[in-house]
Amino acid sequence: MKVLVINAGSSSLKYQLMEPETQEVLAKGLCERIGIDGRLTHKVPSRDLKHEADVSMPTHAEAIQAVLDALTSSEHGVISSMKEIDAVGHRVVHGGEKFASSALINEEVMAAIEACIPLAPLHNPANITGIRACQNVIPGVPMVAVFDTAFHQTMPPKAFVYALPYEYYEQDHVRRYGFHGTSHLYVSGRAAAMLGRPIEELKIVTCHLGNGSSICAVDGGKSVDTSMGFTPLDGLPMGTRCGAIDVSIVEYLAKTHNLSVDEILNLCNKKSGVLGVSGVSSDFRDIEAAADQGNQRAQLALDLFCYKVCKRIGSAAAAMGGIDAVVFTAGVGENSAMLRERIVANLGFLGIRIDPEKNNVRGEERDISADGAAVRTLLIPTNEELVIATDTARIVSGK
Ligand code: AMP
Repeated sequence: MKVLVINAGSSSLKYQLMEPETQEVLAKGLCERIGIDGRLTHKVPSRDLKHEADVSMPTHAEAIQAVLDALTSSEHGVISSMKEIDAVGHRVVHGGEKFASSALINEEVMAAIEACIPLAPLHNPANITGIRACQNVIPGVPMVAVFDTAFHQTMPPKAFVYALPYEYYEQDHVRRYGFHGTSHLYVSGRAAAMLGRPIEELKIVTCHLGNGSSICAVDGGKSVDTSMGFTPLDGLPMGTRCGAIDVSIVEYLAKTHNLSVDEILNLCNKKSGVLGVSGVSSDFRDIEAAADQGNQRAQLALDLFCYKVCKRIGSAAAAMGGIDAVVFTAGVGENSAMLRERIVANLGFLGIRIDPEKNNVRGEERDISADGAAVRTLLIPTNEELVIATDTARIVSGK
């Protein structure tokens, strides 16, 4: 079965054409600057081929059409016609409390995704636009929505209810949802496979550390707690997001600097995190380089990031009453040996110790634990697209 995986953002759209059974990626790419002008980057891994082109993309519909044209092109295509696409899997950021698993898209599901727009005003509208564009360009092809929030729907109320007046949960659905669910699901499953043990008997802390970061406590294969909350702003400090802060700061900044709530949220989302602290960049590579050259604020940004990730690993272990493995994934987690080493440096008391030699690796599955460490530390590149393609294939084939 050939599944087209679509991850639609407001002005960009990532895609992969994949065979979930063999895990082969036939082609993948990116449409950028949708609504501005339009740029397509298309890659065919088996032929080591990269095709780039300026393509007019006033809306997502033209972007989807450009993807289909690239996939079927005589020069850099991988299928002879669109009919070879058996199903489309769409990444959808917020499924609210309605979706604890992926869903075959119909009008009822679309209405439920639309109802979640107030919970994810930046993401869900773009996801919906991507689905509608696909429905218009390739009508009749079954489509599945795979939600970032779904994996976390197993959290118990004590983990997801905020200590606000309860009616705000009941009436307004204000609660912890958690995100990066497909990534936490994938890497926890791979961790169990690497350890050669049933996931049902494992307590795993998964650390998705990228531009956005979250930590998940996965007990017996189920998410029981996670660091992101009502929105992806909560939890760890990130590239540009502040993570958890005292909410009274909002009122204080509003009065002191005459800022609106929107302006403060904008600075919390876009100007904070390691960018805000370092003043250098949101990219950890730039911050590491600046810190190496003696930039004190860059050093502080790294210090506080590692400190907060370390504390969250400890709290995830406490949530489960134990820990068998800790997993590092995503851009920072997969690539920065230095940050991994610094994050776990204080966690020896939990039995987490890594081997500096084994840790000297990027982007490949590896057990980086020190010999004799009670807790295994694993490096696992995430593969959200594979989860989306596999779920899509399973659902459209009625399994
Ligand atoms: P992601 O959001 O998972 O794509 O991760 C993107 C982030 O990974 C970038 O913003 C970088 O900060 C980080 N990153 C990628 N490569 C490295 C590296 N070699 N060292 C440190 N950070 C990296």
